[in-house]
Amino acid sequence: MSYVDEVYEKVVAKNPAEPEFHQAVKEVLDSLRPVIEANEEKYRREALLERLVEPDRQFKFRVPWVDDQGQVQVNTGYRVQFNNSIGPYKGGLRLHPSVNLGIIKFLGFEQIFKNSLTRLPIGGGKGGSDFDPKGKSDREVMAFCQSFMTELCKYIGADTDVPAGDIGTGAREIGYMFGQYKKIKSVYEGVLTGKGLSYGGSLARTEATGYGLLYLTQEMLKCNGHEMNGKVVAVSGSGNVAIYAAQKAQQMGAKVVTCSDSNGWVYDPEGIDVAALKEIKEVQRARLTEYKKYRPNSEYHEGRGVWTVKCDIALPCATQNELFLEDAKALVANGCIAVAEGANMPTTMDATEYLQKNGVLFAPGKAANAGGVATSALEMSQNSERLSWTFEEVDGKLQQIMVNIFHNLDDAAKRYGKEGDYVAGANIAGFEKVAEAMIAQGVC
Ligand code: NDP
Repeated sequence: MSYVDEVYEKVVAKNPAEPEFHQAVKEVLDSLRPVIEANEEKYRREALLERLVEPDRQFKFRVPWVDDQGQVQVNTGYRVQFNNSIGPYKGGLRLHPSVNLGIIKFLGFEQIFKNSLTRLPIGGGKGGSDFDPKGKSDREVMAFCQSFMTELCKYIGADTDVPAGDIGTGAREIGYMFGQYKKIKSVYEGVLTGKGLSYGGSLARTEATGYGLLYLTQEMLKCNGHEMNGKVVAVSGSGNVAIYAAQKAQQMGAKVVTCSDSNGWVYDPEGIDVAALKEIKEVQRARLTEYKKYRPNSEYHEGRGVWTVKCDIALPCATQNELFLEDAKALVANGCIAVAEGANMPTTMDATEYLQKNGVLFAPGKAANAGGVATSALEMSQNSERLSWTFEEVDGKLQQIMVNIFHNLDDAAKRYGKEGDYVAGANIAGFEKVAEAMIAQGVC
């Protein structure tokens, strides 16, 4: 049996009931086959893959808090510190009822390669809780965040592990967590990113993942003889990534015609009104059913359906496993030329394969959505310098990073005879740097 298959089998046996983690490991290891096979003896002796798929450590803890009725609630908190061979652990905190250890491990594993691709000194980690901020009062969210940080603060620090936002964790949650960290530790340091601008946040961090997605997509299109201007774009999700992806796509001259949340989706043939979307999601924290009040000609549909709309470019920006094989078939039948993942692992493996086989340009999340973590690393730099850069400065660096990421993965794919396979390119380019650092640092 090949080294890759052996390690994958061990992962499944050792981590039962973690299907998302298995999926992420399989996708990465499968596309690393040519690199592993070229160095098999050395990597086996080093047990490099076994070390790569085993987190450095993982924490699971109780998060008790009191709701507005005086009832004590108990959630579970997680932090997985996966790999710090190229820098302090870095990765967001997800607050969503679906969170479990397997989900956090899949996200942490992906984060290793994503962070490496940025070429910035950040390792891979991820955390979160099964707490649902939706429908909770500000006081309840604060009570949860304070309790969560009371335990988490033991494991993190500006040079150790620097969490950030993710699904359900926005500026409000980061603010409450930062306040609690500071109170317990009595240090004012850049321990979290995605902070508010008045206390160490970076300009352009809010926009970074969505904007970065479009910078990379534009470069991918350009290198394949297309442009963003005039294209029809389907976006899923209506959170941080989706909103700023839609905004940047429209600034580039494209028309974004869809968005969605976990209840339903919107089709707006005249182009999504991003200001209305921001008002609904960022200010009112309401559902997408409200969108019709702003745009009477739009349609609201319950359930899933974004990928049935005719589009040139699809940008899944909601969550994992939200674009299935039948969606890929509909996109191809409708003439879609590119899919770029704003979310983490939104496309299932068979859907990805189908898209690639049918000539659709496919940019995987670990490259396409790396703008968020890259800008978080820029926030860390500003915190260390005790300086703030302008929006233009940060946005300019972000653009350069995304263009470089695309060329890194494009070159890596070509080096291994996989031209145009950006999934393999991203995994290979991300892996090479981490593997070199792990080997250089000895058995640890
Ligand atoms: P938000 O919480 O801001 O938004 C998430 C969006 O996805 C919401 O519209 C939400 O709808 C929808 N959604 C969440 N879960 C589901 C589900 N199970 N089914 C259908 N829709 C769902 O999160 P972000 O925009 O920050 O994150 C989106 C994705 O991007 C995630 O995969 C995240 O890991 C990834 N990502 C985020 C980065 C960032 O900087 N924020 C960086 C890199 C990746 P509803 O409101 O109804 O729940």
